[in-house]
Amino acid sequence: MPEERLAGREPLYLASLERAVRLGATMLGDGASSLDTVEAVVRLLEEDPLFNAGKGAVYNHEGTHELDASIMEGRGLRCGAVAGVRTVRNPVTLARLVMERTPHVFLAGEGAEAFAREAGVEIVEPSFFDTPGRREELERELAKSATSGSPTPELGTVGAVALDRAGDVAAATSTGGRTNKRYGRVGDVPVIGAGTYADNRTGAISATGKGEEMIRHAAAANVSARVEHAGAALEDAVREVVHQVLEPGDGGMIAVSPDGVLVLDFNTEGMFRGAADSAGRFEVAIRSPARTGP
Ligand code: ASP
Repeated sequence: MPEERLAGREPLYLASLERAVRLGATMLGDGASSLDTVEAVVRLLEEDPLFNAGKGAVYNHEGTHELDASIMEGRGLRCGAVAGVRTVRNPVTLARLVMERTPHVFLAGEGAEAFAREAGVEIVEPSFFDTPGRREELERELAKSATSGSPTPELGTVGAVALDRAGDVAAATSTGGRTNKRYGRVGDVPVIGAGTYADNRTGAISATGKGEEMIRHAAAANVSARVEHAGAALEDAVREVVHQVLEPGDGGMIAVSPDGVLVLDFNTEGMFRGAADSAGRFEVAIRSPARTGP
C-alpha cells in the first residue's frame, strides 16, 4: 500500500470499509440474499470517491474513465459483466441487469451504454467521475512513464463476497481499472473466472490487483477449481493462487466458502479489506498481515 496514497487518510478508508462491512452484515442478518448484499455493498463503495470504482474511478491515458464490473451467484452459476462504460453511475447494477434481463453474460462499450439506457439505470455525464486526486495520480503516472515507461499499478478496485442463510454464495467486483491504462483496455474485473467467480460447491471469490496477471492465471476460477478438483480447502486454494501462482505485488483476493470460512489474502504491502460473520466477527484493515481462515 503506497504510503503517499494513504497520506494520512487511513481513518477515512477504515471508516468507509466499516460502513461497507456493516451494511453487508446487516443485510445478511436481516435475511437478504447474498446477491442483493454484494450488489449493495459494491454500490456503496462505487459511491465513495476513496475507492477506484464508480465515483472514484482512475483516469485512463486519454484523461477519461472506463469502468468495468461483474457479479456472479453461486446457485446456477448465473453471472453478468460490463466493460468500458463511461456514463453509468453504478456499473455493478448494470452487470446484474445483464445477468437478469439479457440472454448474455458480458456487454462492452457502446452496446453496454445502450443497454444501460434501455434498462433505466442512472446515467451521468462522464465528468461525474472527475476527481482531483485521481487527476493528480494520472499526471504523476504520465510524468513517470515519460521518463521510465513503467507505470505503477493502482490497487483500489472494490469487491464483495457473501454467503446467505439459504446457503447461496455471491461475488461482485467493480473498478476504474488502472491509472493511465490504454483506451479500450479491459482488466480482470469483468472477466468471469479472472476477477470474479462464485459457485455454491466451492465458494465466492473477488480479486484485486494487476488485471493482466489475474486474467492470465484465471485467478478466481483457479481457486474454485482447486477446491472442486483437488479437494483443497478454500483458504489453501486462495493461498496457493495468491502466493504461488501470482507474483509478489500482483494483488489479492477475498473469498467465502459455502460453509462460511472467510478468506482475505494478498501479496501486496496491504489491501483495503473487511470481514464480518454471524458469530460476531467484525474487522477492517489495510496493512499486513493478511488474516485468513476462520
Ligand atoms: N484489477 C483491476 C484491473 O486490472 C485493478 C485493481 O484491482 O485495482 O483493472
